[in-house]
Amino acid sequence: MFYRSTRNNDLKMTASQAILKGLSDDGGLFVPEALPKFDKGLDELKGLSYKETAYEVMKLFLDDFTEEELKKCINKAYDDKFDTESICELKKVNDAYYLELFHGATIAFKDMALSILPHLLTTSAKKNNMDKHIVILTATSGDTGKAAMAGFADVEGTSIIVFYPKGGVSKVQEKQMLTQKGNNTHVVGITGNFDDAQTGVKKMFNDKELKEKLDKKGFIFSSANSINIGRLVPQVVYYVYSYIKLLESGEVKDGEKVNFVVPTGNFGNILAAYYAYNLGIPVNKLICASNDNKVLYDFFETGTYDKNRDFILTTSPSMDILISSNLERLIYMIGGEDSEKNSSLMKSLTTDGKYTIDNEMKSKLDLFTGGYATEAEVAKEISDIYNSAHYVMDTHTAVASKVYHNYKEKTKDNSVTVIASTASPYKFATSVMGAIDESLIGTDDFELIDELNRISGMPIPKAVEGLKDLSVLHNTVCDTADMKNTVEDILGIK
Ligand SMILES: *Cc1c(COP(=O)(O)O)cnc(C)c1O
Repeated sequence: MFYRSTRNNDLKMTASQAILKGLSDDGGLFVPEALPKFDKGLDELKGLSYKETAYEVMKLFLDDFTEEELKKCINKAYDDKFDTESICELKKVNDAYYLELFHGATIAFKDMALSILPHLLTTSAKKNNMDKHIVILTATSGDTGKAAMAGFADVEGTSIIVFYPKGGVSKVQEKQMLTQKGNNTHVVGITGNFDDAQTGVKKMFNDKELKEKLDKKGFIFSSANSINIGRLVPQVVYYVYSYIKLLESGEVKDGEKVNFVVPTGNFGNILAAYYAYNLGIPVNKLICASNDNKVLYDFFETGTYDKNRDFILTTSPSMDILISSNLERLIYMIGGEDSEKNSSLMKSLTTDGKYTIDNEMKSKLDLFTGGYATEAEVAKEISDIYNSAHYVMDTHTAVASKVYHNYKEKTKDNSVTVIASTASPYKFATSVMGAIDESLIGTDDFELIDELNRISGMPIPKAVEGLKDLSVLHNTVCDTADMKNTVEDILGIK
């Protein structure tokens, strides 16, 4: 199976080459030539562990990895870095299943993919006899940065540089990043927002002069963002795993369709759900949940993607995004895999900040539906679910939960529904506790950790225990315009 660029159908790469490159030179994203389908019945996946399921799914996408290579990567990733043996948990709360994807080292769902990506990447380098030092360049809205650094810290042959919006992440998120150990880890706060960080990183990927300079000095860039196919593929696994769990317990019958609700930012997580559907998981609706930055909701309603609007800082910062990179992979597919057509739409996004898809493309989006939750709705959802079920969820999960309840009320759709629960409430303690008890609004994240522990009964994760007292190891801040300079400084290639 080959991968090609969404902006050039003639470019062909193996899976390992696509993982190494991250982003195509033409600015496009790598996609499988044809999305894979299961090579066995869902029945045969019953009873498999998370790791075994991961192998069954990932081998279909990464077909130039040997069984031994892939299983080695999986075993190194999904071990006791996770605080539950099942790696993720499916919890029924009132009328929906919450798929908890935050049991990894940095307590956000990014761990599901970023604990395996370093191994996929170093294996890919070996397979392709690539002996350059790999520099991971990453933009983060708060969670990717920490999870990527935790994954790459002290991995030989790699360095990682993370850019985050200074002032645009939670206190816990920032402290987690700034205290990251490992000689090969670098964190830089920028004076812009996440879109500025992501655009700056993409620019460096497409900068020919910089690429040549790096090449001469023995470096090569790669990406840990979900634009890297090596990030996306491991995320398909938990949609499959959760469906099989529902089959095993008899909650769904053979062939019964479910809804997946996904709190969405860069469109990576929900695209992974779409890939799972294409594999053969029966899906009724993929519900794309946004916060007040509802560019995706508007897109699904109207067919116009328009980023010309104010960027709103919300209590779900990992979804504060106006340019959802991975949507390009879907646009390419529904446009008949026409790389020229896709390129021209993406070009208008760059020049005019918007594009509109035609009716034929729009008709291929029936599986998706969009919704959004306002800040007040998110807070009320956290408090409602806590009061009715004593379940405490984080702000991102609450966006999805509220969007689902709105959807259900409007459509009366009673399909079994799985809500992707993307972060631990401990990561956003201020917003979560403030929603449950108004008198706590404005109290510092760190002061609320014990209180959160008391009311939720959820053990305090290792990731936040003691975090307050760790020393800050990174303090670089730069202007958005200076990102390239900063990278050259860090790598010593000025
Ligand atoms: C990254 C993130 C999201 C958004 O996921 P995308 O793949 O970017 O759509 C949602 N919630 C949390 C907690 C995240 O860290």
